[in-house]
Amino acid sequence: MSYMKIDDVRKSFGRYEALRGVDIDISKREFVVLLGPSGCGKSTLLRMIAGLESIDSGDLMIDGQRMNNVKSANRGISMVFQSYALYPHKTVRQNMEFGLKVAGLKKPERDAKIAEAARILQLTPLLDRLPRDLSGGQRQRVAIGRAIVREPKVFLFDEPLSNLDAALRMQMRVELARLHRELQATMVYVTHDQVEAMTLADKIVVMRDGLIEQTGNPLEIYRRPVNTFVAGFIGSPTMNLLDARVTSVSERIVRVDAAGLIVDAEIDGEPPIVGEQVTLGIRPEHLEGQFGTGSGPSLDVIACERLGGVTHAFTRFSAGIDLTVQIDGELPISPGNTITCTAHPGRAHLFSAETGLRL
Ligand code: ATP
Repeated sequence: MSYMKIDDVRKSFGRYEALRGVDIDISKREFVVLLGPSGCGKSTLLRMIAGLESIDSGDLMIDGQRMNNVKSANRGISMVFQSYALYPHKTVRQNMEFGLKVAGLKKPERDAKIAEAARILQLTPLLDRLPRDLSGGQRQRVAIGRAIVREPKVFLFDEPLSNLDAALRMQMRVELARLHRELQATMVYVTHDQVEAMTLADKIVVMRDGLIEQTGNPLEIYRRPVNTFVAGFIGSPTMNLLDARVTSVSERIVRVDAAGLIVDAEIDGEPPIVGEQVTLGIRPEHLEGQFGTGSGPSLDVIACERLGGVTHAFTRFSAGIDLTVQIDGELPISPGNTITCTAHPGRAHLFSAETGLRL
């Protein structure tokens, strides 16, 4: 049975429909990430769960209780914001203590909860500092500590890592994953960063324009995106999406030709017919790039992104089509070179050219 159920939830601001009927089932202890581009409605949905925004229609159930009209403070939820929202004149300890005082907890109980949260978040040596004397990552940990001491049924996170630099983000991602394991808590996390979604989530909900495009575990979504939008949103660098023509069909295996790149793809649904135009999806990491002439089309290297272990080569076909290929970081490739590429077997995706839906 689901612990939190979001059932056909809708929200309009004036005539603008920000959420157009959203259904999500969340299990106890699950880490759910709401992922989508700016404006898709993910923060609005999180704010509705928190009780900071009213629900126009549909139901929000938590632990079997309808929450639509329950006050924010009584929902058993703690929210961590992107901006940290710490009290600047209170110390770390006082920031964590404030909500507990308001809730009427006695001092020994408050002290015990703060000590435990500080231990979990490695904040013990910083308890008497003011927020201005902390780094961004430490401030974000205090904001999380303030949520932990309240022992909520559900934690909500609204882009909590957006203000941190790349190295700190990575460190905080690891800490959040550890925190989730240690607290065994139900968490709903909003981000537009697909790497955060892939690395943190038990379940990703991909949203666009107030609707859910796909729900699933990270690898499911990576391996089997339901349409070209999800295909392009998950994965970095983004999946190549190319116009292609079906050249043969044999049961579930469809061979397509995209400007000379010949690829076999396995499909689930109704097979297309020979000659039909489709969209071929192939990730840069599923293309094998080599120097010299090979069986694949020749590609002009326009730009290279060297990451060390691998290089992302941004290339162009003779037909003027762009293709990103991941190649071994040791290959001495540079712009101006010509390479060829072949596709790894079984890793291509086919989509309808008309609807963008997975075939
Ligand atoms: P971002 O990542 O940029 O925060 P988001 O996916 O979280 O985007 P929301 O903040 O949920 O998007 O907003 C969804 C849509 O609803 C946007 O088009 C936004 O302009 C609109 N919207 C949100 N709040 C209000 C409001 N109070 N009044 C009017 N429109 C709003």
